[in-house]
Amino acid sequence: MDNCIFCKIVNGEIPSKKVYEDDSVAAFYDIEPQAPVHVLIIPKAHFASTLDLGADTAQVVGNMVLAANKIAKELGVDESGFRLVMNMGRDAGQTVPHLHMHLMGGRSFSWPAG
Ligand code: 5GP
Ligand code: ZN
Repeated sequence: MDNCIFCKIVNGEIPSKKVYEDDSVAAFYDIEPQAPVHVLIIPKAHFASTLDLGADTAQVVGNMVLAANKIAKELGVDESGFRLVMNMGRDAGQTVPHLHMHLMGGRSFSWPAG
């Protein structure tokens, strides 16, 4: 999609520090990390949020979770624990309207989320 930062990262127009890639998803380090490990996992196809997914496309979230598992092991937070977060819309503080999952680890997180 034109003018989407994450689509531009997928097609290489904007540089990123890639962590993982397969046919369906890409993952790269967040530019403003909020934890020692902070990776963004995104579908290569553009969806604004999970609200845009249907029965034929929802499997992309499963692919994102499988990528998260691999990345958590690769970056050594699978045993210490990690948080997967998807912000959807204004009240959740979504700032980039391309579906993404934050993988955060390497420190303790409070609950409930702020
Ligand atoms: P949101 O607030 O929408 O859930 O998360 C968007 C995330 O994207 C933020 O954590 C922000 O730091 C990150 N981000 C925004 N622009 C870029 C960019 O150009 N490159 C990278 N690597 N991360 C970005
Ligand atoms: Zn996009």
